[in-house]
Amino acid sequence: MNNVYDTIIIGAGMSGLAAGIRLAMFDKKVLILEKHTIAGGLNSFYARKGRKLDVGLHAMTNFAKKGERGKPLTKLLKQLRIPYGELALNEQQGSKIIFPDTELSFSNDLNVFTDDVLEKFPEEKDGFMALLEDIRNFNEVSLDNPYESAKERVARMIGDENLREMIFCPLLIYGSAWEDDMDFSQFVIMFKSIFLEGFSRPEGGVRRVISLLMKKYKALGGEVRFRSGVNEIISENSVIKGVKLENGEVITASKVLSSIGYPETVSNLNEKIELDPKVGKLSFTETILCYNKKPKDFGVEDTIVFYNENQKYHYRRPSTLFDEKSAVVCLPNNFEIDDYEDGMIRLTFMANFDLWNDLSPEEYDLEKEKVLTASKDIVRKLYPQMDEEPNFVDIFTPTTIKKFTSHHGGTVYGSTDKSRDGRTPIKGLYIIGTDQGFLGIVGAMLSGISMANLHCLMEGSN
Ligand SMILES: Cc1cc2nc3c(=O)[nH]c(=O)nc-3n(C[C@H](O)[C@H](O)[C@H](O)COP(=O)(O)OP(=O)(O)OC[C@H]3O[C@@H](n4cnc5c(N)ncnc54)[C@H](O)[C@@H]3O)c2cc1C
Repeated sequence: MNNVYDTIIIGAGMSGLAAGIRLAMFDKKVLILEKHTIAGGLNSFYARKGRKLDVGLHAMTNFAKKGERGKPLTKLLKQLRIPYGELALNEQQGSKIIFPDTELSFSNDLNVFTDDVLEKFPEEKDGFMALLEDIRNFNEVSLDNPYESAKERVARMIGDENLREMIFCPLLIYGSAWEDDMDFSQFVIMFKSIFLEGFSRPEGGVRRVISLLMKKYKALGGEVRFRSGVNEIISENSVIKGVKLENGEVITASKVLSSIGYPETVSNLNEKIELDPKVGKLSFTETILCYNKKPKDFGVEDTIVFYNENQKYHYRRPSTLFDEKSAVVCLPNNFEIDDYEDGMIRLTFMANFDLWNDLSPEEYDLEKEKVLTASKDIVRKLYPQMDEEPNFVDIFTPTTIKKFTSHHGGTVYGSTDKSRDGRTPIKGLYIIGTDQGFLGIVGAMLSGISMANLHCLMEGSN
């Protein structure tokens, strides 16, 4: 049978859309198949009571100024041929890491963070400078870096455990599939993306990014089908042949790029393989609180706060439904330009998918109320002056994430078994996005681009 498509991409999240653009740009016949009714995946959007809400977006990491060379963001825009201005990025005002006895501030200027670290941990000056040097000299995007414990490597430079925990806190919760540690390559990616480059927000939120990507992809002749879940990935003698949709339709292609996750991809294979990538343990609840007044009306200027009440930072699946002892608190009004009508605070707690999944509908509603109470408690502790009750609340949980993205275990950062070069035991089937190892909005797009380039566009990739 002749293949109708050169490449099928499973999933219209950030990585799938970026890969699709790259392939369509080089005249490949490409089809994106998406199970959900809209694009965006883990970083999509929805509406509630007239409010437009982003699913995931707190901030885009990897901020770069227009024309800055060699930065992940500018590289990715160049590859996708999207003018910088179209993202309409607004920089953060300033963020914090708050632990019981110490607070560290940072912004998109590394000096703010460095000065605060040196003021609060003067004895760690040499160690912190050595860490910065190590990070700058490390090739974090090499596809054959073996796993190395970041906690162990950083401990060889920084002796103060409190400082180490504070540095790791944002990097883990914004990008680690591993509990309480991360691969050093991932540590460097996250350190650069948060402390060296920083946070920004596209005007209009994630809708702007998705509509830019969709418009570009379609203009290049790319095809996309929504409500088109793949339930079988077909291969013969370990060579990819195509996919079967939930409605039974078979579509053939010589390459398949899968963004649905490594375990999810393997579980859809018609041929059994000796590989069993683990389902990641990390999932989250997200609380969205809207207020009549804006945070700045109360004198609150933080953009993102990484809040932790324990002496150490516990980044792991909690043994309870959620862990209210630490949270990411995001104030999306506090970027350069505030395009929200309401004041808004978003709070992320680590959560246990299995426990949420076992609840009856009544218990589920009750537990969501507890998440709300815990969220309000944290807002009260951080900003006692914000004594106003929210006028709108929405909460989603690990089971919501599973429902809308089909990620096993409601994981956000995927499996701990990544495929750094995207290869699978099936020839012509490649992993892109989170389980290739690059995550977040910018990371996932870069993954889609680099895997499309490597496996579908480079000479000899056929
Ligand atoms: C609450 C939350 C907050 C976040 N905050 C931020 C943030 O502030 N900044 C940031 O940069 N990142 C953030 N992220 C992370 C970011 O959203 C992800 O890392 C990134 O979007 C992953 O993109 P992806 O393409 O790898 O995968 P996904 O987005 O998971 O895309 C996979 C797609 O495949 C589809 N799919 C699944 N199964 C099938 C199937 N069988 N057939 C067809 N389609 C299928 C899914 O519906 C989905 O659309 C957040 C995520 C969440 C959930």
